[in-house]
Amino acid sequence: MLQYQASVFQDSFRHKGMRRALVRQVAQKGITSASVLQAIENVPRHFFLEAAFLEQAYEDKAFPIGEGQTISQPYTVAFQSQLLQVQKGHKVLEVGTGSGYQAAVLVQLGAKVFSIEYNRTIYLKTKALFTQLHYSIDVFYGDGTLGLPAYAPFDRILVTAGAPAVPEALVQQLSPGGILVIPVGDHKKQRMLRITRLSEVKIHEETFDWFSFVPLLSGRLEIILIY
Ligand code: SAH
Repeated sequence: MLQYQASVFQDSFRHKGMRRALVRQVAQKGITSASVLQAIENVPRHFFLEAAFLEQAYEDKAFPIGEGQTISQPYTVAFQSQLLQVQKGHKVLEVGTGSGYQAAVLVQLGAKVFSIEYNRTIYLKTKALFTQLHYSIDVFYGDGTLGLPAYAPFDRILVTAGAPAVPEALVQQLSPGGILVIPVGDHKKQRMLRITRLSEVKIHEETFDWFSFVPLLSGRLEIILIY
């Protein structure tokens, strides 16, 4: 378990109580993995939100984190984490660091986490937060659709932004038996996919519920937005 510095970040009995209530809500919505529910109970979500949203930190809702981006809803974090089937010691790549909350949940699940963020302001802010909280998460600034070839292969890859299609580089960077969880669709809604790499050439794809993520950007998209 991680030790948080009480002087900077307060995790009170009240926060812990609110977290237990949140865990019950998430379980009622269908999350069954004991390790995922425990991770949600262990990570103080209010550390990853602006102080203005402190009171709402334990509602099952997404919230703005600046730069037009959001911290995912706890149910969504739990759903993706459950699909990912993380085991202790797994090397996990997260695309879309955002607030850092999902990455912290992955650490609680025993993963060695690598995370990429496309927005420089968010990258710098969350990297500093991880340092303050003593999380050893490797954060990178860049386009996550390209993965992290220098650190591949990964046991698990999690995309936390809505992708127009499955980036081929991410499938290529999965180890055999590796799992990629990614929401795929348009700007409004996406279908959650789980892609398992059975062997070098064999892929198994499963389809789950609809979700609504902020868009996964890429170099080309940014140029389209500028002009
Ligand atoms: N996992 C985050 C959710 C953040 S929302 C959390 O727990 O808070 C999605 C994030 O993906 C945003 O911060 C956005 O800037 C980032 N993003 C969008 N396109 C990206 C890309 N191509 N590579 C990496 N990050 C991307």
